[in-house]
Amino acid sequence: MKIDIKKIPPQKKEFKTSLDGLTLEGEFYRDNNLVKIEARLYGQVEVECNKCANTFIREIDDELKLIITNQIYNGFDDEYDVIEIFSQLIDFDDIITSEIESIKLDFDNICESCQMNEI
Ligand SMILES: [Zn+2]
Repeated sequence: MKIDIKKIPPQKKEFKTSLDGLTLEGEFYRDNNLVKIEARLYGQVEVECNKCANTFIREIDDELKLIITNQIYNGFDDEYDVIEIFSQLIDFDDIITSEIESIKLDFDNICESCQMNEI
């Protein structure tokens, strides 16, 4: 799903989009030159165990708060992660893909049998 920044309204609008087993569902709206997204990311991602390297399915249910801008963002925000894009189009598939990449790099990806062995 791709949306032109200029077409995003200042009122909150609901959306839902899925990619590779994950669903991003929530609201977006425009705040001057910024687009804010408040959404839940949920579903399943296949990850590799950091201890035994076996792959397993990890259940995901995260809250995402994002600021998207196609201008240089000089501010700082505790609450929102900032994503700078280089076109007019917000690509929700790219957002999900980069979340999947960071989930795969998570140090907490330990499979069940390795977790049991730790106890
Ligand atoms: Zn393991």
